[in-house]
Amino acid sequence: MSIAGGCICGKCRYEIDEEITGGFLCQCTDCQKISGTGHSAFVVIKRNNIAVKGSVKTDDRKHENGNILSHIFCGECGNPLINQTSGYEEICFVHVGSLDDPSIFKPGRVVHRQSGLSWDLNDPES
Ligand SMILES: [Zn+2]
Ligand SMILES: [Zn+2]
Repeated sequence: MSIAGGCICGKCRYEIDEEITGGFLCQCTDCQKISGTGHSAFVVIKRNNIAVKGSVKTDDRKHENGNILSHIFCGECGNPLINQTSGYEEICFVHVGSLDDPSIFKPGRVVHRQSGLSWDLNDPES
């Protein structure tokens, strides 16, 4: 069974051919910008297992940990879809809110908590 998702304007769609098992919340300062709030939420999949249709744009920039972070978004509406990092060449991180059914997400942990904002409350056990 494949899992589908896409941007808010509908011009970019993707299909994931992988069972989604893992995910995380990221409170890094880039994710604060990208999400427009305190964190991003991602599912982790293999890059080979996602097929994207539509004209996406990619913004590459140096992450605070030194890796190059590629932020892939819809070229029409700007909706964030996928992040990739040079630190993990085989996997990518799909923005949970872009999934057609974001309720399948189970956050496993919170990363970059040290840059988290006091009002951005996440599960204290993760
Ligand atoms: Zn769009
Ligand atoms: Zn982040």
